[in-house]
Amino acid sequence: MNITIQRVFAAVIIALALASTATAADITPADFQRVVDQAYAKYKGLNEGSNADYIPILAETPSDLFGVVIVTRKGAIYSAGDVNYKFAIESISKPFTVALVMEQQGPNAIREKIGLESTGLPFNSKLALEIHKERSVNPLVNAGAIATVSMVDAKSEKDRWNQVFSNISDFAGTKLTVLEDVYESEYENVWGNRGIANLLYDYKRLYSEPEEALRVYTRQCSIGVNTIDLGVMGATLSNQGVNPITDKRVMPAKDVPKLLAIMATAGFYDESGEWLYSAGLPAKTGVGGGILAVVPGRFAIAAFSPRLNAAGNSIRSLNAIRYISGKLGVGLFGPNLDE
Ligand code: GLN
Repeated sequence: MNITIQRVFAAVIIALALASTATAADITPADFQRVVDQAYAKYKGLNEGSNADYIPILAETPSDLFGVVIVTRKGAIYSAGDVNYKFAIESISKPFTVALVMEQQGPNAIREKIGLESTGLPFNSKLALEIHKERSVNPLVNAGAIATVSMVDAKSEKDRWNQVFSNISDFAGTKLTVLEDVYESEYENVWGNRGIANLLYDYKRLYSEPEEALRVYTRQCSIGVNTIDLGVMGATLSNQGVNPITDKRVMPAKDVPKLLAIMATAGFYDESGEWLYSAGLPAKTGVGGGILAVVPGRFAIAAFSPRLNAAGNSIRSLNAIRYISGKLGVGLFGPNLDE
């Protein structure tokens, strides 16, 4: 190759590289709305799976509800479908109480007193406690999440609850409420989690009285959110801990990457590997049908639909979010071109 051809060649390569970064950075409002609408239309008819029913009242949520939302770190909202329907946040609450404890005690307290490894086992596994030396394993399975609630610096059960609740409300940027019928339905049937809490206490991996931790944890899971609330919670994580609607700092910026790492490795339970491989984003799911994914530094994608797969993750929601991640090319490990 002579020098001129080499120069032209180099210029073309640089131009191509710049063009691809520009596309990644410059997603327009029309692009955001289009992918949200497309994801909604594409998966609206997907009827696989079924509502969670081990918490009896969740079986009564109309299964056809479906909402998809993007909220940017600047607070712009794009939505399609049933985005105002209030459903139980369930396990999507877990990372936000981790954020509270990280702030109070430093992120290492989570690592040392709970653990960080994904279990490869279901979210409510008792076996996981026996085969891992950390016992509580990671803060996003039930055991670790109950332990996280027990670590909140609190003077009383009421104080523990008030801190957990106002922290989650601050992430959503609005005063949330508890779905009392969900709380009652879950607490009446909470035998498995009670077993986990008692085991952890016996192993000295629970840091408050077990029934107190169990009640506050169950109440935390019964907080009602709609898909937009979830999106704003995620946008707060993508905005380094500042809620883009209220401008309130809700967690220290330095803790955000650590929390997102935990979500990436364990947010989908025993499907976390499959999720990260196909969508490339940290995310958290809940058996109420919600899923929240975060594109760090940029925006959040939230979706809600009650039918779940065997791992307890919403089928329409995970497909919608994965589709949007692929279309916008925002997977953390590079654009994922599969649909
Ligand atoms: N509250 C539910 C439980 O403890 C949360 C589970 C979930 O959303 N995966 O079983």
